[in-house]
Amino acid sequence: MKCGFCSFFCPVYQEEKMETSVARGKNYLVKQVLAGKQEWTHEMADIVGKCLLCKRCAANCPAKTQIDRVVVAARAQMVKEKGLGAIKNFAFRKVMADRKAFGKYARLLQKFQWMMPTTEGKIKHLPDFVKGLGKRNFPALAKTFLRDQVKPVYKPQNGQEPKFRVGFFTGCAMDFVYPELGLKIIDFLTKNGCEVIVPEDQNCCGAAIYFSGDLETGRMLADLNIKAYKDLNVDYIVTGCATCSSTLKDYAKYLPDNEDQQARYSEFEKKIKDSTEFIIDILKVKPEDFKLKKEFEGKTATWHDPCHLVRYQNIKDQPRAILKGLKGLKYVEMPNADMCCGMGGSFSVYHYDLTKKIALKKMDGIKATGADIVVTACPGCMINLLDNVLLNKMPQKVHHFLELVE
Ligand code: SF4
Ligand code: SF4
Repeated sequence: MKCGFCSFFCPVYQEEKMETSVARGKNYLVKQVLAGKQEWTHEMADIVGKCLLCKRCAANCPAKTQIDRVVVAARAQMVKEKGLGAIKNFAFRKVMADRKAFGKYARLLQKFQWMMPTTEGKIKHLPDFVKGLGKRNFPALAKTFLRDQVKPVYKPQNGQEPKFRVGFFTGCAMDFVYPELGLKIIDFLTKNGCEVIVPEDQNCCGAAIYFSGDLETGRMLADLNIKAYKDLNVDYIVTGCATCSSTLKDYAKYLPDNEDQQARYSEFEKKIKDSTEFIIDILKVKPEDFKLKKEFEGKTATWHDPCHLVRYQNIKDQPRAILKGLKGLKYVEMPNADMCCGMGGSFSVYHYDLTKKIALKKMDGIKATGADIVVTACPGCMINLLDNVLLNKMPQKVHHFLELVE
């Protein structure tokens, strides 16, 4: 089918109005390559690179085209034939794939971040001379990373018998940027009767790596993460990052190279839960039992659906139930809440101008609600929303939903 429905939903097409931006064009070109009529050129690399993997096209495609799989497979083939390139090779294989090295480089950056101009509070922005990356705002790296603050085991609070034994997956953004959020999630889980285990040898989930086509490093990280939780005898593995939860769940979909990997990745997937679904569906905390933190009383909040939550995991009701259950907080739905914020992982590094244009539509939605707070469940979205709220001189604060809860 070549109906073109995807063009109505694709945030990149909506900005560029180019056939190569949208699923239909990308599908056609990849098909040409498979038929031997088109080479893997630099132009082709740009075309398959310019996709947020937001899956809005796939969710609305009458033929149920899985463009995410086409794009990831095309990127993987490019990597196989042309290599990763020096920068990605270093970033993915030497830094992100090695937990200790990642921590070491993050600490180094943390030491030198005083050189970055401060926008407000703990928010930094890139100096003007880094023109290529634009003047983007981002939260400062934490003084003490989560990995240096957590204990290996947390018992349920108030002498409760453990309802579940939960492995906590921290994710990189929570480790280096939002450690207090990681501690908050652990606190919430233990308050609600969970025993929480935080294995020291967990690694990056691998999202940025395997979505860029480096399936080999993706498999290595999948194997390391599976090993880290293997003998812990946990009922579930929970994370507060929507990208991490969907990435860990999707190892079986994107990565297997043989039947053994398929079986192991599928088994691992069964234990993964995003914090939103774990709290509502498994822990069965009733929305009316959530208690709003004093500082948010009387405020109005709106919810941004991370692509990795709403389309990759079909989770949309649980976070809304929590926000609507918080007495003292007014909830307003924003127009197009499920529209991508424009981040798309490394997409925002290579196409920052497009990211800002796409985010502008998200900002219009937020403004229309008159909300004081934008709430979400993905640290990646939080960083991009914060950047664009500040760029557009908007008054809203950006929070993870668990930051609102006592
Ligand atoms: S990818 Fe789906 S929505 Fe887009 S043109 Fe093809 S069939 Fe239509
Ligand atoms: S995944 Fe998103 S950005 Fe990529 S083609 Fe589909 S709608 Fe466009």
